[in-house]
Amino acid sequence: MFLRSYEDPKDVELAGFLAATLAFGSVSVLKGRLEALLLALGPSPWQSLYHYDRERTRLADALSGWKYRFIPSEALIWLLGGLARILQTHGSLEALFMQGYLGSGEVWAASEAFLERLRHEAVSKGQSLGRPILFLLPQGNASPLKRLNLFLRWMVREDGFDCGLWKGIPKDRLCAPLDTHVFRLGRQLGLIQAKTPGRKACIQLTESFLEACPEDPLSFDMPLSHFGMMRTCSRRFEPGVCLACPLKPVCMLAQPEPPEG
Ligand code: SF4
Repeated sequence: MFLRSYEDPKDVELAGFLAATLAFGSVSVLKGRLEALLLALGPSPWQSLYHYDRERTRLADALSGWKYRFIPSEALIWLLGGLARILQTHGSLEALFMQGYLGSGEVWAASEAFLERLRHEAVSKGQSLGRPILFLLPQGNASPLKRLNLFLRWMVREDGFDCGLWKGIPKDRLCAPLDTHVFRLGRQLGLIQAKTPGRKACIQLTESFLEACPEDPLSFDMPLSHFGMMRTCSRRFEPGVCLACPLKPVCMLAQPEPPEG
């Protein structure tokens, strides 16, 4: 929704990164916080950050008091400053991401390099990385990087939801954005064996998606995520619900008990 408010691909990319990076918690509360953030950034978020040196004071004033869950306005300003320095150097987030991708040929390695550079640019020398910044830009190789993978899905795939702006990464290289709904359903459907929603679970889910649709594995992500968000499933067999559920033929919770003995 927010991405489609802009025409310039540079603005779509930046609005998408901000929306994906803050994509946690309640959608209705997040929507209001994102609206306030994008309003402060003006008609062209890219222009505002590209000219960050002259916009910094205005942005800090416009966003003072902004808060979303445990992310205060100070962390948001750090993030915007880091993004500004990347845009001023590389012109786009895609240009920086592609440096890592072309160097490694691999989305996980490129994602980690991208986040590391952004953490480095967001926090001034000598300052420690606070919890909000580490949450927004996760460190280490255990995280499933759900929000960055969501952003990549929006940028690389193209359909009624995904924008398809980045042409250099084949869609069969994308990793699934593993949210809680997709993790839970992935386990119920036998697509994930891992017991916790970490990177291992994300890799298992992506491999299952790839097996089902090698050319476009993430075509399953949005339907599964939204099925989970609708909260029709109560994670146990309820005949009134399960008999009408489209996932029943493959849901492990809805299969008959094996005969005793
Ligand atoms: S069949 Fe029942 S338990 Fe399985 S996903 Fe559907 S509603 Fe949930």
